[in-house]
Amino acid sequence: MRAHEHGRAQLSSRVRYWSERLKVEARIIRVQRMTRKWGSCSTTGIITLADDLIEQEPDFQDFVIAHELLHLRIPTHGRLFKALMTAHVPGWRDHDVRRQRASPLPRSP
Ligand SMILES: [Zn+2]
Repeated sequence: MRAHEHGRAQLSSRVRYWSERLKVEARIIRVQRMTRKWGSCSTTGIITLADDLIEQEPDFQDFVIAHELLHLRIPTHGRLFKALMTAHVPGWRDHDVRRQRASPLPRSP
C-alpha cells in the first residue's frame, strides 16, 4: 500500500471510530482538496475532509473529524456543542485556533 493510500485508510478508520463514539452517521464522507478549512459538514449529511489532513498529527485529525461529525447532531457552535467537544476531545481548544486555515498554501492545480 502506498503512503497516501495508507493515510486515507487511516483517516477513514478514525472517521469510523468517531462515528460510533458520537453515534452519528454521515451520508457521504469525502476527502478532497480544501484551502480554507480542514473539514466541513453540510446540512444534507455530507462530511468533507481536507486531503492534506492526512499529513497532520493524529490529535489534530481527531479534533477535525470529531468537530465535523458532531455537526450532524448539532449544527451550531453553541454551548452544547462545546460541552460535547470538551467531553470527547478534552484538548480541543488548543486545536481550535488552527481550524480556519489563515493562509492557503499555494499548490499546483
Ligand atoms: Zn464547526
